[in-house]
Amino acid sequence: MNSNSSLVWSQKPLFLAWSSPELKHYSPIALTNSTLFEQKGSLFTLTMKNPEDIEDLFNDKEVKTIRTSLLQWYDRNQRELPWRYENESECESESDFDKERRAYGVWVSEVMLQQTRVQTVIEYYNRWMKKWPTIHHLSEASLEEVNEMWAGLGYYRRARFLSEGAKMIVAEGGGFPGTVSALRKVPGIGNYTAGAIASIAFKEVVPVVDGNVIRVLSRQKAISANPKDSLTVKKFWALAAQLVDPCRPGDFNQSLMELGAVICTPLNPDCTSCPVSAQCRALSMSKHDNSVLVTDFPTKVVKTKQRHDISSACVVEILETKDESEEKQPNSVFLLVKRPDEGLLAGLWEFPSIILKEEANLTARRKATDSFLKKSFNLDPKKNCSIVLREDVGEFVHVFSHIRLRIHVELLILRLKGRTNDWFEKQDKGTITWKCVESNALSSMGLTSGVRKVYTMVQKFKQKELTTSSISTRKRTNSKKQRCS
Ligand code: SF4
Repeated sequence: MNSNSSLVWSQKPLFLAWSSPELKHYSPIALTNSTLFEQKGSLFTLTMKNPEDIEDLFNDKEVKTIRTSLLQWYDRNQRELPWRYENESECESESDFDKERRAYGVWVSEVMLQQTRVQTVIEYYNRWMKKWPTIHHLSEASLEEVNEMWAGLGYYRRARFLSEGAKMIVAEGGGFPGTVSALRKVPGIGNYTAGAIASIAFKEVVPVVDGNVIRVLSRQKAISANPKDSLTVKKFWALAAQLVDPCRPGDFNQSLMELGAVICTPLNPDCTSCPVSAQCRALSMSKHDNSVLVTDFPTKVVKTKQRHDISSACVVEILETKDESEEKQPNSVFLLVKRPDEGLLAGLWEFPSIILKEEANLTARRKATDSFLKKSFNLDPKKNCSIVLREDVGEFVHVFSHIRLRIHVELLILRLKGRTNDWFEKQDKGTITWKCVESNALSSMGLTSGVRKVYTMVQKFKQKELTTSSISTRKRTNSKKQRCS
């Protein structure tokens, strides 16, 4: 321990937390009575010295009972999931290679599981592990490939962090980091993921706190404080740290999360099947006071209002004019633009889109789109291209965690005056990264679900147009035939 570190001793249970500047990164460790705690770096210390301070911690008997009950229940009831291996007791002889493989699997699954349902993740996880079975394989993949594999899971920053993290770990050559403090240095690995990897793959005795753990603990201890409040968050970490089993930390952490996922669910907890119901304060309170429900815990937090944005997406299809005399259906390409490397959907491809300051009518939207196309791609119907078709296709709302984005979708089919290649070559590459892709490539590309929705709308529209025009052509042909006969 270095000289800047502080030590706190106590005969009572106590805890200490360290944090990054962001409150969500609190990562306390606490074990049992008379445990030594260390302050990491320049972070802060929270010491509970008085009995009043510790009234919310579990007593030794409760700790023992909860550990035993939860582990027994987990051994019998855990769901079979592709990222779960044998129980810890059965993998004592695991080689470093096996541990690293396990750590990699835990890492990928935990990142995928953030904000995504287990059933959805299973398929993605299996495909991912087939393509990149080890961290070394992943480190060689391009971000483009990783994004493609991730397409549809949302929150693409997670995919980027996995890619960057794998590259960093492999480049450093020291193997998969095996402790929370080493894991926290990897891009995108926060305290939760670090705790999960360290405890499950490397048996470090550290807790994890996610939404499921918060729900179980807030019911076990009937904690009515705001679960998002920084002090309450510290309390959850302290409680989880107190409970984690020193012999089977990974299994214990998974058992706590599993309980929250399948028994102690948000709306209808199955308390009669709960292995730790005897210790549950929320349940006991609800039995004695009909006005209290176990579901009153954790306290519901009023969500911050979502931002409402409006955008105009223009699907630009360029008909290739290789040879004017060709009669067959011309090939076409679609214009795609890469989003900036920072911010929402960083580095992902989309159709040319602009954010509008406010709701605007079709004329105003087209004016803004035209100006963007002219400025960024030198596409100007007055000069170098002609409009074959321009249609307003519709609109939809795409919801991100903090933004409701209303997207107006337009299809713009253009034919360039002169050869397509000439236009490509004349383009000033500027600051925007863009490319043109054929429709079959577009269908197989990994696109975000929002971009895919835009493309699907356009495809449906074209299909409808095609059907309508073929019906009217048939009608015209039939009436012509009738006139001739
Ligand atoms: S008894 Fe009910 S409320 Fe309490 S932890 Fe178990 S399932 Fe959750």
